[in-house]
Amino acid sequence: MQSYYIQTFGCQMNYSDSERMESYLQALGLTKGTSFHDSDIILFNTCSIKQKAEDKVYGYMKQISEIKKDKPDLMVVVAGCMVRNSSSKYSSERDRLFSTMRELDIALKTEELPKLAMLAREIDPETKIPEIEEESLEDYFKISPTHDSAPSKAQAFVAISNGCDKFCTYCIVPYSRGREKSRKFDDIIAECKQLAENGCKEVTLIGQTVNSYGLSKYDGEHETFGYLGEKEPFVYLLEELDKLSELGLERVRFTSPHPKDMSDQLIDAMATLKTQMPHLHLPVQSGDNNTLKRMNRTYTVEKYRDIVEKLRAKIPDISISTDIIVGFCGETDEEYQNTCDFFREMGFEHAYISQYSERRGTTAQRFIKDDIAAPVKKQRWYDLNEILKDNSRKSLERFRGRTVNVLVENKHDDMYFGRNEHYKSVQFRSGRELIGKIVPVKITEVGEWHLEGELV
Ligand code: SF4
Repeated sequence: MQSYYIQTFGCQMNYSDSERMESYLQALGLTKGTSFHDSDIILFNTCSIKQKAEDKVYGYMKQISEIKKDKPDLMVVVAGCMVRNSSSKYSSERDRLFSTMRELDIALKTEELPKLAMLAREIDPETKIPEIEEESLEDYFKISPTHDSAPSKAQAFVAISNGCDKFCTYCIVPYSRGREKSRKFDDIIAECKQLAENGCKEVTLIGQTVNSYGLSKYDGEHETFGYLGEKEPFVYLLEELDKLSELGLERVRFTSPHPKDMSDQLIDAMATLKTQMPHLHLPVQSGDNNTLKRMNRTYTVEKYRDIVEKLRAKIPDISISTDIIVGFCGETDEEYQNTCDFFREMGFEHAYISQYSERRGTTAQRFIKDDIAAPVKKQRWYDLNEILKDNSRKSLERFRGRTVNVLVENKHDDMYFGRNEHYKSVQFRSGRELIGKIVPVKITEVGEWHLEGELV
């Protein structure tokens, strides 16, 4: 029997895709290998959000080249964001990756996963990978994921859309993953229902801009979204998922929403549905309108502030985290200072702060000069992280003495780790078996990034 090994890079969406790839390969009769060395097929599920992420894959190819010397039949597949055209090394129209990766056998677009068997036949007509029926080629989302990338069995990531229509100038996703397409509503509900019946307590809905679910012009063709009237498809989805609390589903999170689609309806749903948690990760990217414009973020600082004010009015204790890029093309000292001021004003409790780096194929790379010197980017990154540390410490202080509910994710010796309603990392000791349970913990200590407490 043939075995496979999947190496995943990038965001949670890619890990979710790998879960689908995994169950697809298992359905074909392949078994999971433990390393590159004991596998017949190695699949790299790639990310192209940054040049560094692509360079990592090229780095692995040196290792693969060595393994192939002893194992010439090893099949190397590159899938995911780096691929533009599903093809094998013998296809007439090959992906551009074949010109830079001589170890590569198959390039596979994620949504074309079912083409793997056909492409494998181009490499080896005798391959043991069976063909699958035409019917199941239709929709990549129909492949059930293994759900094993979440920290515990009580949690699962559920993809609800793929691709993006927003075209931020620094981002490759609309080109690598294509235009936004939403998954069928009933399929999402069915998957979540099954998860809840199997003991899942927390579902995180994922998509590039998760809250524009069902709003893309390509989704207009979907009959599912036609009958909702004034109700937004994403809000309707949250409402229907809320009903699964009867089956034991307690938490529904989503990531990442786009500020443009943060509607009043959605804020109301977050404030009223019992499965909604008091935490939102809402990428802002910059606190300056000129920078936002160059980034094509399609909202202003004022609009973002308005959303946060509405959220805080309806959910007073909500934790808000964000993404920021510092040193974007043309970011002046004043613009950067505006971002720092906005960061403090919004009281972001957590943030993924990155230094801008040019990404080949994006609008910014083609038309806007990457003119901020590396040491300046580094210094801005460092300074903003200092503000973040301060915000984080202050935000965690409010939990001291409070009892919070922790979904327990893992443990080392007798120390348990999990997350509370606000998505804060919480540690506590216990001798009992608690992984996958939601337990009350009284907070006794506050660290820079986490809380510690005692089981109540
Ligand atoms: S919203 Fe912008 S940053 Fe996010 S995936 Fe779409 S284009 Fe990229």
